[in-house]
Amino acid sequence: MSAARTPEESPIEPLIRLKSVSRVYGSGAAQVRALEDASIDIRAGQFVAFMGPSGSGKSTLLNLVSGIDRPTRGEVRVAGRRLDQLDEDALSRWRARHVGLIFQFFNLMPVLSARDNVALPLLLFDLTRGERRRRAEIALRVVGLADRADHTPAMLSGGEQQRVAIARALVTDPDLVVADEPTGDLDAVGAEVVLDLLRMLRRELGKTVIMVTHDPRALRYVDRVVHLDKGRLLQGADAEQAAQALELALGLPEPASPTSARDAREPRA
Ligand code: ADP
Ligand code: MG
Repeated sequence: MSAARTPEESPIEPLIRLKSVSRVYGSGAAQVRALEDASIDIRAGQFVAFMGPSGSGKSTLLNLVSGIDRPTRGEVRVAGRRLDQLDEDALSRWRARHVGLIFQFFNLMPVLSARDNVALPLLLFDLTRGERRRRAEIALRVVGLADRADHTPAMLSGGEQQRVAIARALVTDPDLVVADEPTGDLDAVGAEVVLDLLRMLRRELGKTVIMVTHDPRALRYVDRVVHLDKGRLLQGADAEQAAQALELALGLPEPASPTSARDAREPRA
């Protein structure tokens, strides 16, 4: 589904541009400054990780970039649109066309087959049932689960369920794939398969992929890490220090995993 490009969108403009963005929740004494004065550009076709301690504003930032939420102040521009200026309805229409969402707990419908789960986002488009089915099967093939199309989520492992969720995020051919802690509920093997798939979306399908994660292994897969702390994007020496701490966390092999055949020091491909 190649959406019409707006005139202001050009190849040199970054896909995502945030200018002095703040998001404040609540008011008075209960006020929380979840994100403060965030400015950042993200080019199309990158795989980017947002990393930082719990409560540092990662999900808040992700929600602003994907049009799930709007800022209290500042500009959020994605694919040439000012998301901060759209109302709730316009924003959800924009999202349906431009963003594929992936969650920590997969959020699949338990009574539906993998194929019908993947086809769900297509209900918002004017397509025949046959066409929805065909597209869902293509997306399942992309994540390597074509042979599980008739399985319900309970018949699949956690890693497989997350792959179905990735197929669902892809089925509308979005510009942007956004994942909040996609490996948070997976074992080590499932996590690597999911990270590998997300990297493939960027390399082979040219998607821009933005992921929130705590997982230092993500370093081996992404093009760029954006560090957050206490609602601020880290810059300069602070970002450097956060990056080094992550490298340190990656430096040792897993304790007590004699069956692991993978070399944790495998260079970034
Ligand atoms: P992270 O994803 O890095 O753990 P969040 O972006 O979810 O952090 O949250 C940042 C801060 O904003 C936290 O202090 C959190 O409690 C607060 N917060 C997030 N969402 C809401 C909300 N809907 N209402 C009030 N406070 C919120
Ligand atoms: Mg979060």
